[in-house]
Amino acid sequence: MDCIFCKIIKREANAEIVFENEFVTAFKDIKPDAPIHFLIIPNIHIATLNDTKPEHSKFLSEILLTAKILAEQNHVLEDSYRLVFNTNKLACQSVFHIHGHFLANRSFKWPPG
Ligand code: 5GP
Ligand code: ZN
Repeated sequence: MDCIFCKIIKREANAEIVFENEFVTAFKDIKPDAPIHFLIIPNIHIATLNDTKPEHSKFLSEILLTAKILAEQNHVLEDSYRLVFNTNKLACQSVFHIHGHFLANRSFKWPPG
């Protein structure tokens, strides 16, 4: 399977990794949309949120816990930040390995475009 995010996990592709544990890896987005823009991914290949199963729950919960760690590490806990999961093409998912976009240090609008 040719998945760029699986390659990043296996260190077969370069990325600026900012956090990792047994379940997740977080790294800087190559084309940031905010001064702080990280991607948080499970360390197993899951294409979209539609492909999640109950046995993935530890990987999925670790994504949320990692968002809080990244907020702490980047001193935006008391500020504002956003975690986004684009799911399928019309929602602008372009890499089909689940990822939470962690965005911070800019103003946000709601609803998103
Ligand atoms: P999506 O559009 O699927 O929600 O988000 C995919 C994100 O992955 C985009 O923000 C894009 O810039 C980022 N991205 C795509 N390929 C790479 C890569 O090879 N390295 C890194 N660090 N980010 C990538
Ligand atoms: Zn993958």
